[in-house]
Amino acid sequence: VSNLTRIFDVSKPWLNRVIERLPRARLTAVSNVSFDIPDRSVYALVGESGSGKSTIGKMVVGLLDASEGEVEVRAPDGQDDARGAGRTGVQMIFQDPYASLNPRWRVRDIIAEPVAARGGDTKGVAEALLEQVGLSVEDAGKFPHEFSGGQRQRICIARALADNPRLIVCDEPTSALDVSVQAQVLNLMSDLREEFGLTYLFISHDLTVVQHMADTIGVLYLGRLVEEAGADDLFETPRHPYTQMLFEAAPRMDAYGRDVEPPQGEIPDPINPPTGCAFHPRCPRAVDRCAAERPEMRRVGTSRVACHLAE
Ligand code: SF4
Ligand code: MG
Repeated sequence: VSNLTRIFDVSKPWLNRVIERLPRARLTAVSNVSFDIPDRSVYALVGESGSGKSTIGKMVVGLLDASEGEVEVRAPDGQDDARGAGRTGVQMIFQDPYASLNPRWRVRDIIAEPVAARGGDTKGVAEALLEQVGLSVEDAGKFPHEFSGGQRQRICIARALADNPRLIVCDEPTSALDVSVQAQVLNLMSDLREEFGLTYLFISHDLTVVQHMADTIGVLYLGRLVEEAGADDLFETPRHPYTQMLFEAAPRMDAYGRDVEPPQGEIPDPINPPTGCAFHPRCPRAVDRCAAERPEMRRVGTSRVACHLAE
C-alpha cells in the first residue's frame, strides 16, 4: 500500500478501500503480540506501514477477529473481556475523520451513537461533549460537511467519549490533518485524558507525536513486537537494532510526519517473511544465529526486547 500511494499519489484511506475489495494472498499481519496498558496511561504502537499497527487496533476494538487463535482483551479489574457485550468498553478514533463520519447524520446523532447502540439515554449527550472538545452546542444540528478536518476529528473524539469507554484506540488520529491543526488535536486529547482519566492505545508512525503523547511504547516489526519500554527509556536507550534504525531515520520524515522513505532497505514481503529474526536481512548486527532462530521477547533492564544480542 505505501509503495502504491507513493507511485499514484493518492490518499491511503481511499486506496485501502480499493484494496479491501481485491482478492489477496494470505499473510500473517500480526502474530503473538501481547502487552499491558496501565490504567489512565498512553501506550503507543509504532512501526512502519505494514507492521500491523492498525490490525492490532482493529482487533482490540473488535472490528477484526483472529483468523487463528484468539484476541483477548482483559480489563484491569480482572474481567475477562474488557470489551464486554457489544464491546462498548473500547472506542476508536480513526485516521481519516472524513471517512468515519456518516455524511447524512447530524452531529448530535453521530456523537450519541455509541450510547444509542446500547439503548442508553442520548438526551444532551452531544451538546455536553461538543463543548468539551472545543466546539459549540449549536454545532449539534449540523452535518459533517460543514466542518473542517480538525473539527471533524473533534467530533470523532466526542463520539469516542460518549459512552465512557475504558480504552480509546487512536489510529494515526492526526496524520490526515494539516500540521497547524495536528498539535491542537493532540493537545485536546492530552487535556481530555487528564480530565476524564482516559486510557489510550495510540497508533502512529510519527515518533515526534509518540514522544509527545506516550507513557509506554511498543515497537512493531512485521507483525511482532520487537521492543517495549517506557517512552523516556526508549528514546534514551533504544535497545533493538530496528528501533535504533527507526530513530536514525526519523529526521527524514516530511513536514506532515509521513515517512519519506523507509529506513535502509524495504520491508520484506510479509507473505514470505524471513526466517528466524524477521529483521535479519536489514540488521547491521545480524549473526548466523539470527537467520535460524527467532528471538523471543525478554526483559532487558527496564525494557522488553526481542533480539539475540539485546544485552
Ligand atoms: Fe539483528 Fe539478530 Fe537482533 Fe534480529 S536477533 S535484531 S537480526 S541482532
Ligand atoms: Mg495504519
